[in-house]
Amino acid sequence: MLNIVLFGPPGAGKGTQSEKLIEKYNLTHLSTGDLFRKHLGEGTELGKLAQKYMNEGRLVPDEVVIGMVEEKIKSTPDSKGFIFDGFPRTVTQAEALDVMLEALGMKISGMIALDVPEEVLKERIRERGKTSGRVDDQDETKIATRIKVYLDETLPVAGFYENQGKLTKIYGVGTIDEIFGNITSVIDQYK
Ligand code: AMP
Repeated sequence: MLNIVLFGPPGAGKGTQSEKLIEKYNLTHLSTGDLFRKHLGEGTELGKLAQKYMNEGRLVPDEVVIGMVEEKIKSTPDSKGFIFDGFPRTVTQAEALDVMLEALGMKISGMIALDVPEEVLKERIRERGKTSGRVDDQDETKIATRIKVYLDETLPVAGFYENQGKLTKIYGVGTIDEIFGNITSVIDQYK
């Protein structure tokens, strides 16, 4: 089983690369941002709870995220593996994921961290905002908050996997196919 954490700041290309990876390796895409947006669209209680955090570019509380991820993993028992996209975003989430996976006889194969300079991130998010319809992509303050939250709260998660010898950094600027090629050469070593 292949379980990959695709890591990086907002706008790093995690969603784009995830789409290609799930196709190549036949994996399940588990994007917590997408799951929250789905709940929001459906007007569920979870969606309403998440909305105020998402709109401000802040993190949804850990226990809410962890519960939602656990439900998704357990509801996909036949999966060949998962691409975790936008999760874990705190060390607490990473620890909870390890515990959850161990109980299911699973483990993280590795983390791939996409490295992209801040100015490129901001430009990509602004561009995405023109078509994504995401309010959090269309406001400079919200974009800046998300990058700050990433640096303050999420970056330590890379250290968590580095301590386990599972971190590989990949430069996330270039063509989509070039970056994809670099990611797959790392993943192919996991097998
Ligand atoms: P994303 O699509 O990954 O950029 O996520 C959009 C928003 O959803 C984030 O800015 C957070 O408000 C929320 N979110 C997504 N994933 C997480 C997570 N793992 N932990 C906390 N909040 C999250």
